[in-house]
Amino acid sequence: MGTCWDIALDILLPRACAHCRKDLKRSSGPLCLECAASLPAPPEPSCVRCAGRRGGASPFCADCAGKRFSCRLIRAAAAHRGSAASLVHAFKFRGSQLAATAAGRHMAEALALRPELRGFAALTAVPIHPRRERERGYNQAEILAREIAAATGLPLLDVLERTRAAAPSWKLGRVERRAELAGAYALRAGAPVLVAGKRILVIDDVAATGTTLEECAAALRAAGAADTAGYAFARAGSFT
Ligand SMILES: [Zn+2]
Ligand SMILES: [Zn+2]
Repeated sequence: MGTCWDIALDILLPRACAHCRKDLKRSSGPLCLECAASLPAPPEPSCVRCAGRRGGASPFCADCAGKRFSCRLIRAAAAHRGSAASLVHAFKFRGSQLAATAAGRHMAEALALRPELRGFAALTAVPIHPRRERERGYNQAEILAREIAAATGLPLLDVLERTRAAAPSWKLGRVERRAELAGAYALRAGAPVLVAGKRILVIDDVAATGTTLEECAAALRAAGAADTAGYAFARAGSFT
């Protein structure tokens, strides 16, 4: 968790790479050139639905096999470790919008290599609770989505809202997290007409259990969206 000390040190000391802490003389981004070039790729082979770890001959992981989801697919641009995890830490806990912008650009580049994420009509970002957004000053998923919208020309729709604040949930298991998040996302007033009949790609920073993306997708599908998938910057999970 970032502290006031982290933020004070960032101001007092010369800019350092968010991962290896080397001096950032040659890079204008949050990472040095070496760390920026070595963002870890998501692991293969992975579940064809959620991009999580799978074993054996089935194309699905144990959590996805035989089940139906509102969020048809989950994909990520990186694995949540190494320099990718440092970028997440920088934009989540150290207030670095520059880190979110860099992560969003990486997502836009990686999107071009994922044919299964083509054909979507619009993007939307996973919302955070307004109180959390006031504290942090921004919604990191929205910064990621803005970068992808700029690179692809897809419209970015502001259609979801977080109706309930939640306790920090990184440590919760899948079942607990599902209960915690059930009904926590809803469509804004007037939003259903914007999503009805459309294929919507939901953008998030980290996909861990996939529950947040599933809850957002369920709200979109209930409002008439034709298809929903999730695209995160980093995939976390037991494989990391
Ligand atoms: Zn570095
Ligand atoms: Zn899966």
